Amino acid sequence: MRSHARVVVVGGGVVGCSVLYHLTKLGWTDVLLLERSELTSGSTWHAAGGFHTLNADTNMAALQGYTIELYRELEEISGQSCGLHSVGGLTIATTQDRLDFLKAERAKHRYMGLNTEIVSPGDIANLAPIVNVDGVVGALYDPLDGHLDPSGTTHAYAKAASFKGAEIILHNPVLETNQTLGGEWEIVTQDGTIYAEHLVNAAGLWAREVGAMAGVYLPLHPMEHQYLVTEETKDVFERDIELPHVIDPAGENYLRQEGRGLVIGFYEQDCEPWAVNGTPTNFGHELLPNNLDRIGSSMAAAFHRYPVLQRVGIKNIINGPFTFAPDGNPLVGPVPNLHNYWTACAVMAGFSQGGGVGLVLAEWMIHGEPSRDIFAMDVARFGEWITPDYTLKKVRENYQRRFSISYPNEELPAARGLDVTPAYGIWKTKRAVFGVGYGMEAVNYFAPKEAVLEEIPTFKCAYGCRGRMLRCP
Ligand SMILES: Cc1cc2nc3c(=O)[nH]c(=O)nc-3n(C[C@H](O)[C@H](O)[C@H](O)COP(=O)(O)OP(=O)(O)OC[C@H]3O[C@@H](n4cnc5c(N)ncnc54)[C@H](O)[C@@H]3O)c2cc1C
Repeated sequence: MRSHARVVVVGGGVVGCSVLYHLTKLGWTDVLLLERSELTSGSTWHAAGGFHTLNADTNMAALQGYTIELYRELEEISGQSCGLHSVGGLTIATTQDRLDFLKAERAKHRYMGLNTEIVSPGDIANLAPIVNVDGVVGALYDPLDGHLDPSGTTHAYAKAASFKGAEIILHNPVLETNQTLGGEWEIVTQDGTIYAEHLVNAAGLWAREVGAMAGVYLPLHPMEHQYLVTEETKDVFERDIELPHVIDPAGENYLRQEGRGLVIGFYEQDCEPWAVNGTPTNFGHELLPNNLDRIGSSMAAAFHRYPVLQRVGIKNIINGPFTFAPDGNPLVGPVPNLHNYWTACAVMAGFSQGGGVGLVLAEWMIHGEPSRDIFAMDVARFGEWITPDYTLKKVRENYQRRFSISYPNEELPAARGLDVTPAYGIWKTKRAVFGVGYGMEAVNYFAPKEAVLEEIPTFKCAYGCRGRMLRCP
C-alpha cells in the first residue's frame, strides 16, 4: 500500500463510493478508498434499492432528484449497469390532511424543478391496478421514482471513480486514525499505515466505531428493517408494463414490482434498534433473524390495500440494519474542531441520497463550501450536548414517523426535557407552550386562558387561532 494520499475515504458502501466518484469528478484524483471487506458489505448489499424524491426538507428533495438523475450518467461513464427500473411512484393519501401535505410537497417540488403531480383515485387505479382505492382521496405521482440494483450501482460509482484515477483497496480494515502534529491524518490499517490530508468517515453501520477512533461521537443509530419478497403472480407478470412504486403511508408500507412478483417493506411502530452497544466488527454479509410478529398489524393494512397479497406466497424475508441520525437526515461535512475530518454517514436512503451526499461533500472539501443550502444534513447541526440516549430515542421516533405527515413548526415528543432554563417552572405556571432547540426547552408562546394546552398540528386552523395550533374553544 502506498504511504500517502490527498484523501482517504473509509468505507466502500454506496455512500463512500459516491464520495470517491464525486471527488474525482470535481478534479481531485489522488484519492483512495479503504474497505474492510468487499464493496457493499454494510447496509448496502441487502437494500431494497428503491429511490424517490419525497423528503420533508426541500433541499434534501432536490439533492434526491440530483441522485436519481445521475444514474444514467454513471452507467455511461462506468459501463456498469445500475439495473435501473424508472417506473414512477405513487404516495397515497387516505385523509385530507395527508393530501394537503402532498400538495405542499408538490409546491416545493415545483420550486426545486421537480415535476410531481397530484392524481385522483381513478388515476391510481389505472396506473397501479393492484391498489384497492377504497378510502383513498388522491396521491402524489413522482415520475422519477424507481428502483435499481444496489450492488451494480455501488460498483458503477467505484468503476467511474477508478477510471478517473481513484484507488480502491479491499479487505483492509482501518484500525486507528490519529492526527499528526502537522495536521495530517495517520490511518493505521491491517496492511500498513497511510497518511492523508483529508479523512472521510463513510463507514455506514460502523461510522460510530470509526468516529470513536478519532475521539468523535457521531449521533446515529442502526435500526432493524424488514421487507418481504413474494412469489410470482399473474397480477404482476401479465401486465405489459412494470408497476409503479406505491407508498401507503397510512399502512406504513412501500411496495414495488420485483421481477414477476412484488417487494413490500414496512416502517412499523413496533420497531427494533440494533447493536445498541456498538456494531460487531465481524458483522458483514449476514441478515438478522426475521420477526413477522412486529409487522403483524402493518401486514393487515397491506392485505386491505393490495388484495393480491392475500393470494400470493412469501418467497423471502429480509431483515437488515441501517443507520439514522436523530432527525433522519444524513451527517455530512467537516466535524467541528477536527481539522480535515469529514463525515458522510447516517444516510438512511443511500439510493435516493447517496449521489447528492457525495456531490456536496466533494464541493465542500474542494471549493470550501457546498453550492447549495445543506443545513438539513450538516454534521455540525447537533452540538456537544447530544448523548447516545437522546440519539436512540429520536432515532426510534424517526423510524416510527418515517411515513408520518410533517407539519410546519411541529414539535416532536421524544427525548424532551433534556435541558431546561432555571425559569422553566415559572414559565410553565404561566401556561407556556415549549419548543425545543439544540436540546434546550424554550418558550414558543404563552397560551391564552381559554385554550386547551395541547397542540394539534395542522396545515390550516379551523378556529382562527392564527396558526398557534391550539385546540381553541
Ligand atoms: C432491509 C433494508 C432495505 C433498504 N432499502 C433501501 C431502499 O429501498 N432504498 C434506499 O435508498 N435505501 C435502502 N436501505 C438503506 C441503504 O441500505 C443505506 O442507506 C445505504 O446502504 C448506506 O450506505 P453506506 O455506504 O452509508 O453504509 P454501508 O453500506 O454500511 O457501508 C459502510 C462500509 O464501510 C465499511 N467499513 C466499516 N468499517 C470499516 C473500517 N474500519 N475499515 C474499512 N472499511 C470499513 C463496511 O465494510 C461497509 O462496506 C435499506 C436498508 C435495509 C437494511
